[in-house]
Amino acid sequence: MASKFLLALAICKLIITVGLNVEPTELLQLSLGGGRLSRDRPDVESSSLDFGMMSQVEPLAVYHPSSVDDVAWLIRAAYESGRGFAVSARGHGHSINGQAQAAGGVVIKMSGTGPAAKSRPAPRVVAEEGYVDVWGGELWIDVLRSTLERGLAPKSWTDYLYLSVGGTLSNGGISGQAFNHGPQISNVYELDVVTGKGDIVTCSEEKNSQLFHAVLGGLGQFGIITRARIALEPVPQRVRWIRVLYSNFSSFTRDQEHLTSLHGEPASKKFDYVEGFVIVDEGLINNWRSSFFSSRNPVKISSLDTDGGILYCLEVTKNYDESNADTVDQEVEYLLKDLDFIPTSVFTTDIPYVDFLDRVHKAELKLRSKNLWDVPHPWLNLFVPRSRIADFDRGVFKGILGNKTSGPILIYPMNKNKWDQRSSAVTPEEDMFYLVALLRSANIDGTDASWTLEHLADQNRRILKFCRDERIEVKQYLPHYSTREEWVDHFGDDRWARFYRNKMEFDPKQILSTGQRIFKPDF
Ligand code: FAD
Repeated sequence: MASKFLLALAICKLIITVGLNVEPTELLQLSLGGGRLSRDRPDVESSSLDFGMMSQVEPLAVYHPSSVDDVAWLIRAAYESGRGFAVSARGHGHSINGQAQAAGGVVIKMSGTGPAAKSRPAPRVVAEEGYVDVWGGELWIDVLRSTLERGLAPKSWTDYLYLSVGGTLSNGGISGQAFNHGPQISNVYELDVVTGKGDIVTCSEEKNSQLFHAVLGGLGQFGIITRARIALEPVPQRVRWIRVLYSNFSSFTRDQEHLTSLHGEPASKKFDYVEGFVIVDEGLINNWRSSFFSSRNPVKISSLDTDGGILYCLEVTKNYDESNADTVDQEVEYLLKDLDFIPTSVFTTDIPYVDFLDRVHKAELKLRSKNLWDVPHPWLNLFVPRSRIADFDRGVFKGILGNKTSGPILIYPMNKNKWDQRSSAVTPEEDMFYLVALLRSANIDGTDASWTLEHLADQNRRILKFCRDERIEVKQYLPHYSTREEWVDHFGDDRWARFYRNKMEFDPKQILSTGQRIFKPDF
């Protein structure tokens, strides 16, 4: 009782402090619940920047919660204070355009270590029912570590595992498994969410379903995810990982679409993962996403007959363990036999499943060792309707990009029926659409003009303009817009009306995730 009283007192002080903009040092005296409110420079500075390194906005303070109650108390403080203040959850801060920032408000650090993190609930695997309950700030790599102990793993992934559960569920969470299992937001059974009013709500398909669907892909606008119940499957032991090359774009997309359309087939008659990438310049065949084409697997691009100097790489995997080790070769052969790739370009490797899932982290370590990780990343992720992907190829890969890319370009199709239309995520209207991810890094020393931030940002603008001019109805994944009109256009009238209604219901003071710049709070 006494501690509740002290907590209430602390919150009143926070409200007064933030509301009246009293000396920030007063914030240091506050300690909410088991959490810690900090104005330490390292905390404030690290919460002002993200992976994109293109937008720097300082919060007034950073809050390290130890429990769902801490998160609820802080949001209630923001909601009930006269003027209100911005509150943004920050997972691993791997956004590109400041989406997890809270200008002049409080960033809640959901991920990371430290004293407060010790009290957060650890992952709880319920093997019999095939799920794991995890804290919203848990990183996917740690989710994997905990489920592996029970011989299980989540079904749907991102390519990179050092992202938080709350961060990817606020967007979609996609990788080469999405054609089959759907995005990560299609593989969640239940959530605990703290709404913009500070209410703690458990929601699922059956219970408080409006909030459940709103939050999935909801860009952090309706509440902070403090717990997610994630679907699991038995973990395979190994992965047969295959890459084949194409010089002809229509053969490449025909084959990708064919493999993607097999999602309803039995496991032995489809791949477990389908992705691909565009090779615009030879130097990038071993791009940072993976150094797959090793010296044991030499590939001479110049020796291949390319289409306008461009190659396309289809990347597929087949999971296996003791039960199907004898048949994996046949299954792969059966699936490859109808494809139309360059016959001499089959590259195969075989690695443990966990190494495959964690493949991008190895590349991260390499880039870090060369000081090439903490650089600006003007990434652009687009969902392109299947019917227009050839136009996109002509105008962008063979047009705007020239023959320099400064980063990997991923391209792979997904099935729209694997995306629940009740969620807040936005996809194109067609049954199948492509992810095109231009994952480029800017050169900070400015030695190569085609790799500068200005040049790459200008190319991104030209790509979006090209799509508008050609009426290619792309949707941005991890969207970033600056005007209300652009956001309405992104959602389309009906979905925007629903998104807006949900905002008014679950975060009426518009205090949450202001870094997305969708709603303008009036403080
Ligand atoms: P943050 O950047 O911390 O937050 C993102 C948004 O979510 C913010 O608006 C924030 O307020 C909100 N948010 C964070 N936590 C919560 C919560 N608990 N509840 C409610 N809202 C919350 N995406 C893919 O789909 N597939 C990929 O393969 C992929 N690979 C990537 C690889 C790298 C190297 C990087 C940098 C990004 C990649 N992404 C990928 C994008 C990534 O999924 C998103 O940027 C995601 O938001 C990052 O998670 P985070 O924990 O860093 O989120």
